[in-house]
Amino acid sequence: MKVTLLSYTKDAERLCAAAARSCYSKKGASKLLEEIDEEKAGKAISDITGMGHHSVIEHASYTFSIEGVSRALTHQLVRHRIASFSQQSQRYVPLKDASFVTPPSIAEDQELRAEFEELMARSWDCYRRLSEKVPAEDARYALPNACTTNITVTMNARELWHFFSLRCCNRTQWELREVADEMLRQVKRTSPRIFSEAGPGCVRGPCPEGKMTCGKPRRHELKNLK
Ligand SMILES: Cc1cc2nc3c(=O)[nH]c(=O)nc-3n(C[C@H](O)[C@H](O)[C@H](O)COP(=O)(O)OP(=O)(O)OC[C@H]3O[C@@H](n4cnc5c(N)ncnc54)[C@H](O)[C@@H]3O)c2cc1C
Repeated sequence: MKVTLLSYTKDAERLCAAAARSCYSKKGASKLLEEIDEEKAGKAISDITGMGHHSVIEHASYTFSIEGVSRALTHQLVRHRIASFSQQSQRYVPLKDASFVTPPSIAEDQELRAEFEELMARSWDCYRRLSEKVPAEDARYALPNACTTNITVTMNARELWHFFSLRCCNRTQWELREVADEMLRQVKRTSPRIFSEAGPGCVRGPCPEGKMTCGKPRRHELKNLK
C-alpha cells in the first residue's frame, strides 16, 4: 500500500481563515488574506469551526494517490460521495500477473494462507484464459475482491474531517483504517491547525459508538501522528 498526498491547496489555513473572517468584515478576503499570519489563521479556524461553521474549510482541497490497495478497500472508499475519484480501469488495463492483498489474519495462518494463495492463482489462471476469448470487461468477473488497484482521490477538508471520523475509528476495516491513518498523518503535516482535532470521536471526547465501542481510545496515538 502506498499513499501519497499529490497536491493540496496552497496556504490552506490562511485561505480558510480569510474566507471565515470575510463573513464578519467590511473587508474582502483578498485584503484579509494579506493581513492574516499563520497563528491568527489557526485561532480563526478553531474559533469558527468550534461554532459549527464548518463550510469555511471546504475551500481547502487535498488530492491523494492510493496505490496497491484491494478492490475491497476501494469499494468502501467510493461510498464517500463528497469526494472525487479516478480509479484504474479493469476494462482498459490488462491484469495478467496476479496481484492481490492478503489480510494479516490470513497471512499469519500457514494453512489458510496456502489455501488463499491457491485460490488467487486459480482466479488469475481463469482470468488469463477468459481474456483470450472474451472482452476484458467480462474476463474481470473472475478477479477477486483482493485484487490490487490504484485510485486517485480528492476531498476537501470538511469531507476529510468526516472521513477521518468514520475511517480512523477502530470499528473500520483494517486496510481502509491504515489508509485513512496515513492520509491523516499527511494532511496534519501540511495543515496542522485545520486537522489538529481530526480523527474518530475518541480524539475529541468520549467514544460516540455507545455499545459498539472498542474501548481503546485513539486520542493519544492520533494527536501525536508525525
Ligand atoms: C464501520 C462502518 C461499517 C459500515 N458498514 C456498511 C454496511 O454494512 N453496508 C453499507 O452499505 N455501508 C456500510 N458502511 C458505509 C456507510 O453506510 C456510508 O456509506 C459510508 O461510511 C459513507 O458515509 P457518508 O454517507 O456519511 O459519507 P459521504 O458520502 O462522504 O457524505 C458526507 C455527508 O454528506 C451528507 N450527504 C451526502 N450525501 C447525502 C444525501 N444523498 N442525502 C443527505 N445527506 C447526504 C451526509 O451528512 C453525509 O454524512 C459502513 C461504514 C462504516 C464506517
